[in-house]
Amino acid sequence: VDALARGYVAVGGSMSPTKGPETYLRKTREGRSLEVKTLPLPDGGVVRTFTDVTDYVQAQEALARKQAQLSALVNNIPDRVWLKDADGVYLLSNPAHRRQHGVRDEDVIGKTAAQLFGNEVAARQRETDLTAMASDQPLVYEDQLVNRHDGTLQQVELVKVAMRDEGGRAIGVLGIARDITARKRAEAALIAARDAAEAGNRAKAQFLANMSHEIRTPMNAVIGMSDLLLDTQLSSAQREFAETIRTSGNTLLALINDILDFSRIESGQLKLERTPVNLAECVESALDLTSGPAAAKGLELLYCIEDDVPRTVHGDVTRLRQIFVNLINNAVKFTQRGEVLVTVSCRAATNGGMLLHGSVRDTGIGIPPERQDRLFQMFSQVDASTTRQYGGSGLGLAICRRLLTLMGGRIWLESSVGEGSDFQFEIPLQPAPPGAGAHVHEHAAGLAGRRLLLVDDNASSRRILTLQTTRWGFQPRAASSGSQALAWVDAGEVFEAAVLDAQMPGMDGYALGGQLRQHFGRLPLLLLTAIGDPGKRLAGLDGAQALTKPVKAQALLDALTGLFALQTPASAPPAQVLVAAHEPRLAELLPLRVLLAEDNLVNQRVAALILSGLGYDVGIATDGLQALEQVALAAAQGGPFDVILMDVQMPAMDGLEATRRLRAHYPGAARPWIIAMTANAMEGDREACLAAGMDDYLSKPIRAAGVGEALRRAGAGLARLRAG
Ligand code: ADP
Repeated sequence: VDALARGYVAVGGSMSPTKGPETYLRKTREGRSLEVKTLPLPDGGVVRTFTDVTDYVQAQEALARKQAQLSALVNNIPDRVWLKDADGVYLLSNPAHRRQHGVRDEDVIGKTAAQLFGNEVAARQRETDLTAMASDQPLVYEDQLVNRHDGTLQQVELVKVAMRDEGGRAIGVLGIARDITARKRAEAALIAARDAAEAGNRAKAQFLANMSHEIRTPMNAVIGMSDLLLDTQLSSAQREFAETIRTSGNTLLALINDILDFSRIESGQLKLERTPVNLAECVESALDLTSGPAAAKGLELLYCIEDDVPRTVHGDVTRLRQIFVNLINNAVKFTQRGEVLVTVSCRAATNGGMLLHGSVRDTGIGIPPERQDRLFQMFSQVDASTTRQYGGSGLGLAICRRLLTLMGGRIWLESSVGEGSDFQFEIPLQPAPPGAGAHVHEHAAGLAGRRLLLVDDNASSRRILTLQTTRWGFQPRAASSGSQALAWVDAGEVFEAAVLDAQMPGMDGYALGGQLRQHFGRLPLLLLTAIGDPGKRLAGLDGAQALTKPVKAQALLDALTGLFALQTPASAPPAQVLVAAHEPRLAELLPLRVLLAEDNLVNQRVAALILSGLGYDVGIATDGLQALEQVALAAAQGGPFDVILMDVQMPAMDGLEATRRLRAHYPGAARPWIIAMTANAMEGDREACLAAGMDDYLSKPIRAAGVGEALRRAGAGLARLRAG
């Protein structure tokens, strides 16, 4: 076989002389291909040559297979494929291509485009053919053409590539065309849908801005009027009706604000502020808003900021407070018994930075695991019956999550049914300059080592009180009940002051205070009372002070310092005394001439009543022009207005324009202090008012307290102005 493979010639044998030379292929048993040539010799013998042609045969077979694959591909692909030589004569055309042009195979091959489709079409094709042949890159472009098969207009994507010989000369062009009509149509539909959605979103945001304005204006009247009504002599039934109106008004307003917030966040209109935030003040103001409902249900509301939390951080104080208010409100709403504990602490982030960690833990109804992840979606509540029982829009947590996401943070919860829920969040912490020190309050000077008795039936409260007072250098001991505390006293323990929970089962704080006084004479006493406790029983404990719960660290320290510092309790400045003396009316403390510019009659009346309730005589204008006239008149008469409460949207001349003119007319210290009143709560309103030259801003519905505060700021601002 080896010899054969090398080509080997045999001579001999016999063959009929009449036969000519013969060639045939033969397979050996080993699978090799032999070409056998037989040449007859004149003497009747033969010369037979054997050549091994295995490689050649295999190459031929492979080529045939490749070609079959290629034609299967070209013939069945839905894309159109064709090949032309350098002169534009078709060498190949696949069925898809022929179908498109409505021609048969035999019509195409050997013909030019001009012969097949006319000069115009051919000229266009020739242009791109030549470009493709001149380039070593495939030419890719889109075109529109008429399908000759059915006359429809088609979008096609074309690829043309030059075919070259060994020398690199272009000898033809390969074309591929794909019908992209459907894709183009879908793209156009998507773009149209997106544009429509964007337009819809803008319209929705605008609609909500308008609605909020429209709804908040009458709400102003409802809430303001019921406030005023409640200040008059009413029978108890009337008072109840008026209170219901006010409560419902506030609920409605909260709901409107939620919807407004949510749509603002959704439409990307909400911009977070970045200012230094005093964390304690932020959390405490949230607690102030929620302590009423907690006390009404008899819940312990507790709060603790850990030691290492910076005093001041960079952030958006309104939004941070909103998150706390939402979570605390929910905790109070879904808890019948027990406590709500708010803690703020610091954690290390994986990227080396710090995270601010907040937790609001309750002992309420809890949330089943399968419902937990749905809660942060909008309009989602645990179940319909819960909603019926507790009310709510299902927006609170969705807003929290979106706000936290905007802040670069996250929110999650741990909960078990019947035991309670712990909503937690974290955000990147950016300490602001004065926050280099930690949140802790300085050691109470001279109080180190003082022995404090703490009595509270609530374990969390005891823990927090112990933690805080130890931190300040006191020596606290905490008892869980009056009888336990009295047992310690009976056993001879001595205390220099006592902090007592006012509401405890069995012996309450007042009774315990009385008993302790019997042991220790004028023992300084601090009672922790629920908000709404009238504090009348405090009078029975001479010199005792009261703090409302939840206890705030700074207020507690101040109160303790006050207790120890002052030996004569009669002159002790109350730390946070419950019973407020009757406050003189603001106008007596801060006389100001006030002009009210407001076109809506109801709102005008509400604002005027609030102002006169504070003791002010009010000038009234119903639009910007009138306001200008009144200001000029008063100035001419020698009694200029100090403060103008200016509605922003008014007919004839709006508040912004009136302000610009006033500022131009009355420069420097001669100018009035201008406070904007607007029902618009959209982003940028405040900026627009300030840019027009207004000094302050009241959002409607306006309230007596808000007006009072704004007037106090006006007094301070005017004093600064006039001092130069
Ligand atoms: P809303 O309270 O206005 O319905 P939220 O988004 O604030 O809307 O809350 C959604 C739902 O999550 C609530 O309806 C309630 O079912 C559940 N939930 C929220 N907080 C608590 C909690 N602390 N304990 C039990 N369930 C809660």
